[in-house]
Amino acid sequence: MKKTKGEQCSKMIFEGRGWNHLCNNKAIIERDGKLYCKIHDPEYVKEKNAKLQAKWNVASAKRDEHWHRESVINSIFVGIDTAFIEKNIDRYKEMANETS
Ligand SMILES: [Zn+2]
Repeated sequence: MKKTKGEQCSKMIFEGRGWNHLCNNKAIIERDGKLYCKIHDPEYVKEKNAKLQAKWNVASAKRDEHWHRESVINSIFVGIDTAFIEKNIDRYKEMANETS
């Protein structure tokens, strides 16, 4: 690997309206002939994105499960007065305990 001491990261920062500039950080690594600082190292970025994606997938699965549950519960009680359902919560719980 090439010595990167004192050299600048080659990541272009897009500030909008044409105010683009190179990252001001010092490079710590070379990938495919380009120098990168710690946060713009393509391998680091890839790893970080994969972690974010995995986290997002877990959150998304939880959300899907939540909505599925709501939809199942709602489909059971559709057309039944909410006050009536609330009054009978203990009975539903008993039923769940008996069958589980
Ligand atoms: Zn950088």
